[in-house]
Amino acid sequence: MSNQLVTEPPLYTPQFNAVTGKYEDQSPFVKFERNNKKLYKCSCKSGTLFSGYSSFIQHIQSKTHQEYINNYENYNKELIALKKENINLRAAYLLLEQKNTKLDRALDARCVEVLNLEKKNEELIMIKKVFKLLTH
Ligand SMILES: [Zn+2]
Repeated sequence: MSNQLVTEPPLYTPQFNAVTGKYEDQSPFVKFERNNKKLYKCSCKSGTLFSGYSSFIQHIQSKTHQEYINNYENYNKELIALKKENINLRAAYLLLEQKNTKLDRALDARCVEVLNLEKKNEELIMIKKVFKLLTH
């Protein structure tokens, strides 16, 4: 048996419409596209699967799915909160990454400064030694 047959089909998720403030169905398939028989599962009802555009349309018109989509926010409060948290964490991570890059660059610059100062210090010690030899 190939791996493809045992893998779980991806979960269909409706899209949030920022204008209406509601979740809406959006086909993961392109209308009239051939060979688009990828299987999706829907959490409106356990064991619900659909594949292809017409199968999707038929599914979203079912009473169970309509009820689910109308109450999507209530049914998925935890999931929605986690998604929002994930977005916020990613943004915070990106900011920290930028800050880290800046600090790395600053540290590199400081290291170069320290190296230059050490070099100058060694030169001064040498000059001091030479001066001592010449004056004694
Ligand atoms: Zn459904």
